[in-house]
Amino acid sequence: MSARLDATGLPYMVISPEPGYSLVGCPSIAMEQEVRSRLASCSPEEFFCSGWVDYRQASIDVPASSPQTFPEDIFGTASMMVLSPCIADETKLRLVAHISGDMTEVFPYMNTEMKGACYNPNGPMLTFMDGHRLITIYTRRIAIGKADEIVDAWRTLEKIRCFSNEIYSRRASITPSYTMRKKPPALEVYKRLPGTSCGQCGQKTCMAFAMTLWSGNAKPFMCKPIFEGDYSHLKDAFLEICVGLGVTAGDNLSDKG
Ligand code: SF4
Repeated sequence: MSARLDATGLPYMVISPEPGYSLVGCPSIAMEQEVRSRLASCSPEEFFCSGWVDYRQASIDVPASSPQTFPEDIFGTASMMVLSPCIADETKLRLVAHISGDMTEVFPYMNTEMKGACYNPNGPMLTFMDGHRLITIYTRRIAIGKADEIVDAWRTLEKIRCFSNEIYSRRASITPSYTMRKKPPALEVYKRLPGTSCGQCGQKTCMAFAMTLWSGNAKPFMCKPIFEGDYSHLKDAFLEICVGLGVTAGDNLSDKG
């Protein structure tokens, strides 16, 4: 591949997942549009491409140490098979990675441990938010929406690799849950808020806060009127529905790991 790229005489840059993300990523190439056009004539034997996205500089570094290994590895390694701009936000990436392992056995333990996740045993599949990223884990593949850029995508896959293996290593002490868990709708969260749209949580309206909380990107205590103000009488009902979302007053899935 590098010979084909060198032959163009045009600049390109290799973004490497080595060493920290070497189990979940493969080298990616940033290149000018013209190089890309020339590569279009390559045969599939010469060059397999997962997809094209606009280049964005990574905001994080690939860790300088080798990835953690696990005596029992349920995840294996990941290969990115689909890469495209995210439909919901074109400045972000959408990707699908196939994994060499099989997550079937670990799902019920992850379902117990990850309170904010939605588990569907019929898939089986597990869906959750990691910050603004929407993640769905299937038995042998992982879909990530709204990754920031390629290194962020590797970081997310590595995080999933580590916490799924870590949960699997503790499975003897975890009661597995096979129950389908669905989050209460955002409208139900909204109904338990003051409804004054005062903006103290950083959102313009209570509905916007309900949506942000529902997607795992806010914490309940950020509604100051409930936790510090005149609406403390709503606290119990609000916290009750927050449990269904998998969060407590100062807890948030994006803090995990
Ligand atoms: S702080 Fe609470 S009451 Fe004010 S807008 Fe946010 S959710 Fe609504």
